[in-house]
Amino acid sequence: AEANIGVVGLAAMGASLSRNLARHGNTVAVFNRHYSRTETLMNEHGSEGRFVPAHTLQEFVASLTRPRTAIIMVKAGDPTDQMINDLADLMEAGDIIVDAGNSYFKDTIRREKAIRARGLHFVGCGVSGGEEGALLGPSMMPGGTDESWETLGPILESIAARAEGEPCVTHIGTDGAGHFVKMVHNGIEYADMQVIAESYDLMRRGLGLEPGRIADVFEEWNEGDLNSYLVQITAQVLHHVDARTGRPFIDIVKDQAGMKGTGTWTVQTALDLAVPVTGIGEAVFSRGLSASADLREEAAREGLAGPVQEGGLGDLASDPDRCKAFIEDIRKALYASKIVAYAQGFNEMEEGAREYGWNLDLGAIARIWRGGCIIRAKFLNRISDAYASGGEFGSLLFDPFFKQAIEEAQDSWRRVVTAATGAGIPIPVFASSLSYYDGLRSRRLPAALIQGQRDLFGAHTYGRVDESGAFHTLWAGDGSEIRQGD
Ligand code: NDP
Repeated sequence: AEANIGVVGLAAMGASLSRNLARHGNTVAVFNRHYSRTETLMNEHGSEGRFVPAHTLQEFVASLTRPRTAIIMVKAGDPTDQMINDLADLMEAGDIIVDAGNSYFKDTIRREKAIRARGLHFVGCGVSGGEEGALLGPSMMPGGTDESWETLGPILESIAARAEGEPCVTHIGTDGAGHFVKMVHNGIEYADMQVIAESYDLMRRGLGLEPGRIADVFEEWNEGDLNSYLVQITAQVLHHVDARTGRPFIDIVKDQAGMKGTGTWTVQTALDLAVPVTGIGEAVFSRGLSASADLREEAAREGLAGPVQEGGLGDLASDPDRCKAFIEDIRKALYASKIVAYAQGFNEMEEGAREYGWNLDLGAIARIWRGGCIIRAKFLNRISDAYASGGEFGSLLFDPFFKQAIEEAQDSWRRVVTAATGAGIPIPVFASSLSYYDGLRSRRLPAALIQGQRDLFGAHTYGRVDESGAFHTLWAGDGSEIRQGD
């Protein structure tokens, strides 16, 4: 026994993570089902640190010092379950199995329970940053017991990304907490990408700007409140020219967005928890609509009617001063919509924590997202500050900083939604975030009417504004009211 950590599964993610571990002074046992991957890793990168290559899982486990700690990075689903069981068969009480894949948090809860019953620790660990992050420093969200964190914490801290000197990893909570938080991270990522895409569309279709010019705008935005990895790479993508055709890269890419399911999980979970995550939801639905290419093709053939001033923002676009002012409006609309989407994502984590009995430190979660992960941004410092101030508040939108940010952005936001709607340009996250915001502000919602309808057709009862209790009106009778339970 000589390795303090092991990695099972040496495809893109596992190989990068192993190298990162070895480069940071860990002795890393490595195992892959087919030895060829292990061999490649040793041949190409064996000199980067101390590796202990194993031909069999038995050899792998035997090379680990106790408590044995093994990170699984194999294909999600059945292969992961299989590997967890194989490892558990070979390990002893107190050893730690880490699943660092993108597992569904309910699977993690199930697996943790089963492995705990066998006396071992099971840690579901969310890892963000892709292959490059795994190699150069990811943001990591481990769940599991406090005891497993004692062993695993220093190892993960050694390889995590750093933001302002702090490692981008923290013990999130028990069982599935880490994978839950990673899931919401991905959902927020969907919303963030969609608001950027909507901004691009307004400049492209609405204002008629060329991709290169729009890239410059995003570069400028990246200097301010919107400073983030996603805005930065947006500029990079928009500047890129297709080598084959000489056309802007953005114009030769099919407009059908893919997805692997974490965004969908975030929305499904939010529905179960009854937390409105309209920004994330619309972002997932937008990818769905984009992927429905045949349906959109048919709609075009059918010639579905649009506004008279289809697509363009007309005289606004041809007046340089108004055009410039509108770009600033878009920036503010993006910022406000993004704040709403994050506020909703954080609400989902709060509600998830209540439902599943986790003690989530939302400020710490915002801090570990500042580096290494896809949504890394300066903005997360503000969220972290909001939660660190210790005040109990129901939404990030009530925090003084964000409250003021939206106050300053809202006129622009409303102008953008109005203009886009008038021109027939879809802005699902801009518009739904604004509706959510206005709904939240409303002292009185039309839900009273819905209660009336429900009581009429289904005797579902309603509450009165002037008296407590549940009431039902005899709609088919004399219209009198009865108090439930009377
Ligand atoms: P893949 O998901 O492509 O999986 C390939 C690896 O799984 C290979 O090592 C393969 O071994 C192994 N494997 C497949 N089936 C089995 C099995 N039945 N038994 C044992 N081993 C098996 O690899 P990636 O590196 O892309 O991803 C690894 C994990 O990380 C996945 O869970 C994925 O969801 C997650 N991931 C996370 C990302 C992130 O940003 N956090 C990004 C990408 C992935 P062999 O070589 O022998 O075929």
